[in-house]
Amino acid sequence: MAEFSSASTLPTPPESQTRLHFGKLQHGCEHYKRRCKIRAPCCNQIFSCRHCHNDAMGSLSDPKERHELVRRDVKQVICSICDTEQEAAKVCANCGVNMGEYYCEICKFYDDNTEKGQFHCDECGICRVGGRDNFFHCPTCGSCYSVNLQGNHPCVENSMKSFCPVCYEYLFDSIKGTTIMTCGHTMHMDCFYEMAEQNQYRCPICSKTVFDMSRSWEHLDQEIIDDQILGFFANFRGIFIFVLVIAYLFVMADPMYEGN
Ligand SMILES: [Zn+2]
Ligand SMILES: [Zn+2]
Ligand SMILES: [Zn+2]
Ligand SMILES: [Zn+2]
Ligand SMILES: [Zn+2]
Ligand SMILES: [Zn+2]
Ligand SMILES: [Zn+2]
Ligand SMILES: [Zn+2]
Repeated sequence: MAEFSSASTLPTPPESQTRLHFGKLQHGCEHYKRRCKIRAPCCNQIFSCRHCHNDAMGSLSDPKERHELVRRDVKQVICSICDTEQEAAKVCANCGVNMGEYYCEICKFYDDNTEKGQFHCDECGICRVGGRDNFFHCPTCGSCYSVNLQGNHPCVENSMKSFCPVCYEYLFDSIKGTTIMTCGHTMHMDCFYEMAEQNQYRCPICSKTVFDMSRSWEHLDQEIIDDQILGFFANFRGIFIFVLVIAYLFVMADPMYEGN
């Protein structure tokens, strides 16, 4: 596209550019800020997002009616600004707003809050958050992990394709953070902390200790030994070392011990 500029006027963003950001971060649900709703292809109903769909459809009284939305199957969306139903795309065909500042064509995923650093992982086949540069895809675990875990994590076949042992949510595409325990089992970070708060330090799946207990012991030791006792021992040790050094120097300085 050609670039137009004029020396006499200050550069202002073209109207279509400002239009794109209209209503940004002002619409959406508790899960995502976005400017469209989705028509669920499974039940033909309109929802703010797939989590809203799954929450509603997962709690139906008739178990046969319960189901989950297949995100890639979403074809139609409804613009929240002008209410026009249309084929999924980033920009509304009718009013010209971004229906999501971030839009993934594969996942049909919209999010106005780009601070989350969304990116699509081809191997995972879903969008993730946290910035592409901060993650790598582990083919064994079958998931994206933080780069500081590269070559440095218990690598277990499909370890992320499992359910959190505390809240039973499927971990692979959970929107909550996940942690790998030292045993290789996985669970939500939040569920892990909750467990730790209740002084549960064992993996709920295999009962292995999930913390490095030596750290805890160290901490306990420091609490038990109060400062006075510690001071006494420190002094005592100081005196002892002083005596040793003097004795050593004395011995070394004594010509009698010179080798010959
Ligand atoms: Zn449905
Ligand atoms: Zn939602
Ligand atoms: Zn619109
Ligand atoms: Zn995606
Ligand atoms: Zn991945
Ligand atoms: Zn791995
Ligand atoms: Zn959980
Ligand atoms: Zn375990």
